Amino acid sequence: MEDLQTLHAAGHEVGCHTYGHVSTLGLSPAELEADLGRNAAWVAERLDGHEMRTFAYPFGDCALRAKPVIDRRFLCGRGVRDGINAGRADRNLLQAIGLESRRLPGYDLEKLVQDTADAHGWLIAYGHDVSDSPTPYGCRPEDIDRLIGLAKAAGLDILPVGAAWARAAR
Ligand SMILES: [Zn+2]
Repeated sequence: MEDLQTLHAAGHEVGCHTYGHVSTLGLSPAELEADLGRNAAWVAERLDGHEMRTFAYPFGDCALRAKPVIDRRFLCGRGVRDGINAGRADRNLLQAIGLESRRLPGYDLEKLVQDTADAHGWLIAYGHDVSDSPTPYGCRPEDIDRLIGLAKAAGLDILPVGAAWARAAR
């Protein structure tokens, strides 16, 4: 929890990933609402009333009946389908790439970043942990550094999801 408060104080965006880290595929809308409410209360209590404005689906699972709930509560939601958001995109199921040790070898990051710049698009990157010995769902610090370096070289702005959404929605 101290980590969370430190990140928040440093200006990082804290978004919602559910309280129980449960797939929306197995939840009724009421159960999802209850989980999200519990998460919102837990975070607000610890982060000076902070209201989470963006959502990431656990496991990337997006049930059709979950979408109206996410739509109502958040600016946008992200899944785990690989891709760049450009032109028309589903704001409740944005595409992304996983900065995950299990996925990174399969990406051509140079091309993804260049394609994002060419399309005036938005490339979202996610992961669960950053460490010198990451889980399959996380990456090493140098993996993030590499992506940031590529993005800067391509002239892309680097923003938290909520701030990027605000710009894209203008
Ligand atoms: Zn997760």
